[in-house]
Amino acid sequence: FEYLRKVDPAIASVIEAELKREREGIELIASENVVSPAVLAAMGSVLTNKYAEGYPAKRYYGGCEFVDQAEDLARDRAKKLFGCDHVNVQPHSGSQANMAVYFSVLKPGDTILAMNLSHGGHLTHGSPVNFSGQLYNVVPYGVSRETETIDFDEVERLALEHKPRMIVCGASAYPREIDAEKFREIADKVGAYLMFDIAHIAGLVAADLHKDPIPWCDFVTTTTHKTLRGPRGGMVMCKEEYAKAIDKTIFPGMQGGPLMHVIAAKAVAFQEALQPEFKEYQRKIVENAKAFADALSKKGFRLVSGGTDNHLMLLDLTDRGITGKDFEIALDKAGITVNKNTIPFETRSPFITSGIRVGTPAVTSRGFGPSEMVILADLMDRVASAPDDEANLKKVREEVLELCRAFPLYGGWEL
Ligand code: PLP
Repeated sequence: FEYLRKVDPAIASVIEAELKREREGIELIASENVVSPAVLAAMGSVLTNKYAEGYPAKRYYGGCEFVDQAEDLARDRAKKLFGCDHVNVQPHSGSQANMAVYFSVLKPGDTILAMNLSHGGHLTHGSPVNFSGQLYNVVPYGVSRETETIDFDEVERLALEHKPRMIVCGASAYPREIDAEKFREIADKVGAYLMFDIAHIAGLVAADLHKDPIPWCDFVTTTTHKTLRGPRGGMVMCKEEYAKAIDKTIFPGMQGGPLMHVIAAKAVAFQEALQPEFKEYQRKIVENAKAFADALSKKGFRLVSGGTDNHLMLLDLTDRGITGKDFEIALDKAGITVNKNTIPFETRSPFITSGIRVGTPAVTSRGFGPSEMVILADLMDRVASAPDDEANLKKVREEVLELCRAFPLYGGWEL
């Protein structure tokens, strides 16, 4: 790092400032996490120098004998972790993993049935501003008004009416378990492919804390950087019969050279995820989420669907008289990072919103337990009660700092 500081002091100070921000703030963005020093080391390695178009033992470049080993390790470990037939670890991101599945079996204009963005789905599940919404005929399903959980009667009715070629399940802001078996039954009635995007819950799936989607789905996609706690990236798992189509779609179909340093870091993260401590970490994520949901409810926050089964929850702020945008800004000033989020049947624009989404993967990595979640709910309640009172925010900021110092991030590290 001293060397970087000499060569590029501007970027060195950006990295220092970000480390300080992460150390001195509380991260509640449900899609973020804190990777291990081993994952960081693999990412910052000379493997970034290597071109390796193709797949292990079938490359278009010489000198791939070592990066081949990295990709083989990543693939073998992912297969062991999730119990899938085939995996491709090359997608640069979760969005590209989803694109790879669509491109491998769909044609432009085909119908896909996927979860509405404003009910928790992801942009790549057919949003009109995303390639998925532009290339395919998208039929969105959502949650029921009463339970705020997936309305399977509606999913079935829409499937029978529109005969989609693919049904997509999985979400970015859905606090409940998603039953792949039920989706499979509906997909089978109309002869549709089933894809499950487990980006958010991949860590829980790997630790057997979420019903296993692998046996029910043709394709399972994920990011590697959320609950799974690996480097930023994506991957596709599929049944053997689709293996060739997926590999061909990713390279040469969609991407050029794979990011071998990131693939090596994925291998490291999978190795970490295969250890018993990872299971325990995932258990704590869920335990913390339940404690947090309970404490927030007691403070008068309404939770969409009444609680959580996984690592995240959606707060409906309507009764608190603050928008998602204003709450996000006020919390930021107090050192707590969240994201504003639309809630099902939202009445405000996505730039304002009536809700926020919070999750426990990052704070659990940091060592927070249920009692810290109760403290955190109290801090958030105080911010929501007087979001314009600078003295109030300053006082909360001080308490956030105290909490952060009690749970040091990358403890003892000097850059
Ligand atoms: N799928 C889901 C369910 C997600 O929540 C996300 C990211 O938030 C993605 C896909 C896309 O991942 P990426 O940001 O790596 O493209």
